Amino acid sequence: MHSRPVLPHSVTIRDVGPRDGLQPEAPVPVERRIELVESLIAAGVSRIEAVAFVSPKAVPAMAGAAEVLDGITRSEAVTIAALVPNLRGAEMALESEVDELTVTLSFSETYNQRNVKMSVAESESAIADIVRSAAAAGVPVDAVVSCSFGSPYEGDADPAEVVALAQRLLDGGTTTVTYADTTGMATPRRIHDLADALDSAGLLGPSTGLHLHDTRGTALANAFTALERGISRFDTAVGGLGGSPFAHGAGGNLATEVLVAALDDAGVSTGIEIERLVDAALLVEELVGRPVPSGVAHQGPRTRRSAPQG
Ligand code: ZN
Repeated sequence: MHSRPVLPHSVTIRDVGPRDGLQPEAPVPVERRIELVESLIAAGVSRIEAVAFVSPKAVPAMAGAAEVLDGITRSEAVTIAALVPNLRGAEMALESEVDELTVTLSFSETYNQRNVKMSVAESESAIADIVRSAAAAGVPVDAVVSCSFGSPYEGDADPAEVVALAQRLLDGGTTTVTYADTTGMATPRRIHDLADALDSAGLLGPSTGLHLHDTRGTALANAFTALERGISRFDTAVGGLGGSPFAHGAGGNLATEVLVAALDDAGVSTGIEIERLVDAALLVEELVGRPVPSGVAHQGPRTRRSAPQG
């Protein structure tokens, strides 16, 4: 007799669709980005990466971050995060009273250079400045370590080295660390490898998050492997859009509705109402003007009753 793996009772999902999802797209007007965030809130999503305070010249789709934040109905129940690349961005985000800052650096030296034109060490020191300013404002900082499972430039990432980088960030005052599979190189086996390394370092706990991309179709399997290891915090994007403009063929994020539908079926609570989330995914489709790459967005959860097609 095999026993079933024990999954966490609940998970926290941060929807990064308004940021990671829309970032590589043609710019969507501010009012419609507000509408997307509001539709996620209406579905019960309690953490949302809504904007990035980056140069509008470099990333036109993220222009108007302060205006988007101004337009969102804020409540204690919802954590609104902003991605910030530097101290100036952090200061602007704090002026807009965000609840959380996200910062990124890459485990891959080459990717980091291409993404932010800094070495990994330079990014670490930029993050230290941001952490100081956020701490003064009482705002938590989540560091997203991109290419945590490898990069197209350097190949596989050594989990022990990834964890050592995370430990330095946490020692420096970063509140939480999220391990990002930026180019879809993670597999269930490699989720176990990272979980083993986190466990050895005493870091396998609620502060640990995963940011999954579905480039090679492994994202949902990776999420469930992580759940079996007790990881219960995930970044996903409504509609499954996304993908770094700096990593060719990066592929979309794990779609929020795909994860939520599977978690609902597994009896793991997310606080999110699947049919309203599907409405948000269909709104994304309207905003980008093409079908989103998510079966759940189009067919609904497995229990939805509708006429079979084809
Ligand atoms: Zn991403």
